[in-house]
Amino acid sequence: MNHERSRELYDRALSVMPGGVNSSVRATMPHPFFVERGDGGHVIDADGNRYVDWVMGYGPLLYGHDLPEPVEAAIQSHVAAGPMYGAPTEVEVEHAEFVARHVPSVESIRFVNSGTEATVSAVRLARGHTGRDKVVVMQGGYHGAQESTLVEGSAEDPRPSTAGIPEEFAKHTLPVPFNDPEAAKEVFAEHGDDIAAVLVEPILANTGIVMPVDGYHETLRDLCDDYGALLVFDEVITGFRVGGLGCAQSKFGVTPDVTTFGKIIGGGFPVGAIGGRADVIEGFTPAGDVFQSGTFSGHPVTMAAGKATLEYAAENDVYEHVNRLGRKLREGITEICAERAPEYTVVGTDSMFKTVFTREAPDDPDDCCAGGCRQNPDCDRYDACPKTGADVANAATDRWERVFWQEMKERGVFLTANQFECQFTSYAHTEEDVETTLEAYREAI
Ligand code: PMP
Repeated sequence: MNHERSRELYDRALSVMPGGVNSSVRATMPHPFFVERGDGGHVIDADGNRYVDWVMGYGPLLYGHDLPEPVEAAIQSHVAAGPMYGAPTEVEVEHAEFVARHVPSVESIRFVNSGTEATVSAVRLARGHTGRDKVVVMQGGYHGAQESTLVEGSAEDPRPSTAGIPEEFAKHTLPVPFNDPEAAKEVFAEHGDDIAAVLVEPILANTGIVMPVDGYHETLRDLCDDYGALLVFDEVITGFRVGGLGCAQSKFGVTPDVTTFGKIIGGGFPVGAIGGRADVIEGFTPAGDVFQSGTFSGHPVTMAAGKATLEYAAENDVYEHVNRLGRKLREGITEICAERAPEYTVVGTDSMFKTVFTREAPDDPDDCCAGGCRQNPDCDRYDACPKTGADVANAATDRWERVFWQEMKERGVFLTANQFECQFTSYAHTEEDVETTLEAYREAI
């Protein structure tokens, strides 16, 4: 493959943009390819190379790069009407009504412009609602580029995970291990009266893909109820992807007080949202006293794209299609790994998939909840295996990023370059895309 034009563009970008990119994950080694356009489940780069695209914009593109006709028409008509106004529009009310009808926890919703803005606002809302300062987060969880959650370490020793965040801020954040109900009980026993909220991705999706163990979210729900804290599900990735239009909360049957959204809810345009119980969400100004505001919030083009995206999914076999391809990929990759790299672990559910380059396969059958093997697609817990994230922290990160990802790219398959970020199927992907990808996997592994 020729990458001359991408290399030139990256060289220019390095002169005027930090790291040559506007979001750090895009700075792939040795240089990113620059995309010229999308086509169905594919992207074509500036040198004319075509790739099967499983990155899907890091999650928002439920339809890949081919928008269904009604979605495209809705977007075009709102662009043509003038992009935005600084006054409310009907389409944002309709979008809010749709979400409230389908997502169990949502009675009221505030639209913002990114997943990060949604989680920033959710934390402020929880603090305002409870009059408390501390938030519990999961080790390995991600809630965007914000001060309250870019914290690592433990509840006893929380530290900022990046330069630029004062140590004092991190003291208000309590990281606990995911899937460990005892640790959650302990943190509440110690700090319960100071905890405003627990923030949790219902499925950890930024550290491989880690499913919750049975009863974990129920434990968090009970602890929040007992101590008067809010349970916040961060469904920026899982929202309208896992569990269909009811989101992951409907799949797991646990209703949080507040849900944060992003990605699919804006149909490919910049978006975030904070939804939940009306008495909580109405804490936001002007209904309540927790300040929240934004020039672009509820942008008509985004609202039209998001609403048309969800309506189309409600009326067509979208989730059936994306989930079927997701399962095919997970099963196919599992077979390839069993033969060629049995230490690797295939993770995911619904339309999400990833291979984690774990260093050892579990040899103790008791290490699996079903008493079988976590790499066995016939296992009845295959889609919900709680063990699959166990060794993620020790995965062979460099091998994924510096060798395997490159080999796949050169074979025309675009995966997430970071070992820990997941990949997505879309309505535009085909069986042939799955076959092409499995063939490339077989060679590259
Ligand atoms: N929460 C989760 C769970 C995410 O995965 C992300 C981003 N991938 C965010 C929040 C932040 O969203 P954004 O990048 O739109 O700010």
